[in-house]
Amino acid sequence: MEKIKMTTPLVEMDGDEMARVLWGMIKEKLILPFVDLNTEYYDLGLLNRNDTKDQVTVDAANATKKYGVGVKCATITPNKQRMVEYPQLTEMWKSPNGTIRSILDGTVFRTPICIDAIKPVVKNWKKPITIARHAYGDVYKSVDFVTDEPGVCTMTFKGESGAEKTVVVQKVNGPAVWQGAHNKQKSIRSFARSCFQYAIDTKQDLWFSAKDTIAKIYDGEFKKIFEEEYENNYKAKFQELGLTYFYTLIDDAIARTVRSEGGYIWACKNYDGDVMSDMISTAFGSLAMMTSVLVSPDGPTEYEAAHGTVTKHYYRYLKGEKTSTNPIAMIFAWAGAFKKRGELDGLQDLVAFGKKLEEASLETLNDGIMTKDLVGLVEPGFEAHAVNSEEFLNAVAERLAAKLA
Ligand code: NAP
Ligand code: MG
Repeated sequence: MEKIKMTTPLVEMDGDEMARVLWGMIKEKLILPFVDLNTEYYDLGLLNRNDTKDQVTVDAANATKKYGVGVKCATITPNKQRMVEYPQLTEMWKSPNGTIRSILDGTVFRTPICIDAIKPVVKNWKKPITIARHAYGDVYKSVDFVTDEPGVCTMTFKGESGAEKTVVVQKVNGPAVWQGAHNKQKSIRSFARSCFQYAIDTKQDLWFSAKDTIAKIYDGEFKKIFEEEYENNYKAKFQELGLTYFYTLIDDAIARTVRSEGGYIWACKNYDGDVMSDMISTAFGSLAMMTSVLVSPDGPTEYEAAHGTVTKHYYRYLKGEKTSTNPIAMIFAWAGAFKKRGELDGLQDLVAFGKKLEEASLETLNDGIMTKDLVGLVEPGFEAHAVNSEEFLNAVAERLAAKLA
């Protein structure tokens, strides 16, 4: 069989621990036999980030900007414990995802992968719900303090022009706690644009929720910027594709979500997205079945699995155990990247390969062959048996080869 050709390279970002082991296995079993793989490879493994003083992460992000499509393996974000585990580290390097996200100025879209045998907790959900979380500001970049006497708290902005603006936050007659939060118009606008862009890419409706009845100015600003971007830059395309955009209160969005069939993108402010994405992923099944796509407002897109490096499995793997780590979200990351690369380059074979890779993975699961994490989640009566990662990938490879033959 002739291998599928690529033109522009994919930006490939390798990672750490069990995810890195699976990365190699996925390439060996599911990609290299079928695709004449053209990637620009960046080793984002912790030790290479350390050796390059994290320059490799910056280079990988810039390459994603340049070529437009990247695929990333999970990476360790070092903490104090990791500094002990890896004594050669010269610095507690920052989260690679944070670095990449800020260079691409992007928004993360998380989508569950659904199969018939695992029903979501909410029984009317038939299609995946994608959460887009604004990953800048609000309470995540706020300042706060406690005071212990009566008094007044004010908030002052000092402009570079010398102009000042002051408001009274509250006058209190006893101990109190305070918080100052902000967001930037530019960040909100990028968030809005990434959301509209991704809705068009995936041909799904877009909801945006906030609480502008209470935070009239703060959340009102978000609402206004989304509205402006929609009216000025995306409305025509949405109408052409038959897509809907609407703003609604967060309370209403939650109520509608519970009653919905799924199949849309829900854009959330930072905190709402943090908590709602956990609710959605748990209600749909498992973190190992969740993809994560970083979309820049100008289009560049990076695909990955939502889970981490699966450290516990890695230490068992190092002892020689064949672990049953779920590679589905990582396979879908590669598949998403191939589909996007193929669309951009007009390579129908590459788009078709991405689709078949997803189908072969889902068929394997539907045939009852799955990793341990999923076996406990299947509906009563569905016969599933647990296999290790290698056996699972072999089963996917068989089905993929048959589809491509
Ligand atoms: P994790 O790697 O996602 O794993 C947490 C637990 O979830 C695992 O121990 C495992 O449970 C289960 N799990 C996750 N993915 C699975 C899979 N594919 N198959 C089967 N089970 C899976 O999160 P973590 O242990 O909190 O973090 C480990 C490292 O990953 C950290 O160093 C963190 O910095 C990094 N991380 C990276 C990213 C990223 O690069 N995007 C994201 C998150 C975390 P059982 O042990 O019960 O089987
Ligand atoms: Mg959370």
